[in-house]
Amino acid sequence: MFKFFRRKKEKEEKKEVPEKEQLKSPQEEPPKEVEEPQKEEKKSGFFSRFKKEGFFEKFKKGLAKTKERLSETFSDLFEVDRVVDLETLEELEENLILADLGVDTTLALLEPFKDRVLKGESLTTRELKNFLREQMLSFLKEADSEFPPSGSPGVLFFLGVNGVGKTTTIAKIGKKLKQEGFSVVFVAADTFRAAAIDQLKRWGDRIGVPVIALQEGADPGAVIYQGITYAQKHNADVVLIDTAGRLHTKYNLIEELKKMVRVVNKLVPEESQENIIVLDATTGQNALNQVEHFSQAVPIHSAIITKMDGTAKGGVAIAISHKFNLPIRFIGLGEKEDDLVPFDKKAFVSAILPN
Ligand code: GDP
Repeated sequence: MFKFFRRKKEKEEKKEVPEKEQLKSPQEEPPKEVEEPQKEEKKSGFFSRFKKEGFFEKFKKGLAKTKERLSETFSDLFEVDRVVDLETLEELEENLILADLGVDTTLALLEPFKDRVLKGESLTTRELKNFLREQMLSFLKEADSEFPPSGSPGVLFFLGVNGVGKTTTIAKIGKKLKQEGFSVVFVAADTFRAAAIDQLKRWGDRIGVPVIALQEGADPGAVIYQGITYAQKHNADVVLIDTAGRLHTKYNLIEELKKMVRVVNKLVPEESQENIIVLDATTGQNALNQVEHFSQAVPIHSAIITKMDGTAKGGVAIAISHKFNLPIRFIGLGEKEDDLVPFDKKAFVSAILPN
């Protein structure tokens, strides 16, 4: 079922890894205390581990608040099978909008059903429930590329405003990748905040992933250059890049992000890159504005939605995927390293709709 997180295959004829080479950044500054990317023993598969840990239970629990918000509406609506009238549909619209599906997505979601009711068809609430399930599933886009992208190395470029959970998510994914036998490198390209660099380094130490970082205020493009060339020299599989997320300041984030992606493009072919926007579910519809804003800078290939555990606004996932045609790779369900689960649209729809 969960095919998108590929397992690392044994590398045949892996090139000889040179003894720790001295790297030179464009600024002639060596990376600080980097280690060889570690390969850990491959244990059982990534997804079977999730299943063992009660994947669906975790998923459901994480979405409990969203379900709670919707359950009153749904229990009134679906308890007894009856014919749906326009008033019922309008009430449902209101409630879906409140669960943060947003106006556009809610209207698009219900429109075909509403049209049939307006034409005088007699449709029941059971038919409405089945229709809703199918529509929600079709609004949630699936990724058609493998995760992580293969390449020398594959690059995951993380975007998002400060505080959404980018760094934490990078750590969570880095840990999972390591467990799956990938060798991983982190790049601290949010050079604006010393705290951001330190945070990534702390995570790197904790989970045993080398972190390429320069000093605060350094050119983010230079750190990226250094991180990718380091990964190439050491035959690492995946580079995860943390970026700045400041908005509303004189700093031109859009231009900086464009420059950063140009550096990635010079070193790695397009098919080996995935630009991932990280969004905080608690911000609800504001997350949509963030996608709009960041997509001016770079093409966005997928989204990760964090903090689903603390919000009733989980419906925003449907709006994001529908409006921007974006697959959702993972959702964050807490602050700890293991509080990240792959997004599964069937589990998601089952978690928010009654059986
Ligand atoms: P960044 O500025 O985008 O890099 O955000 P951080 O990674 O520093 O995260 C900001 C805060 O959100 C931290 O306190 C994280 O622990 C917290 N956080 C991140 N992901 C989640 C999540 O899925 N659930 C919850 N409850 N908190 C999260």
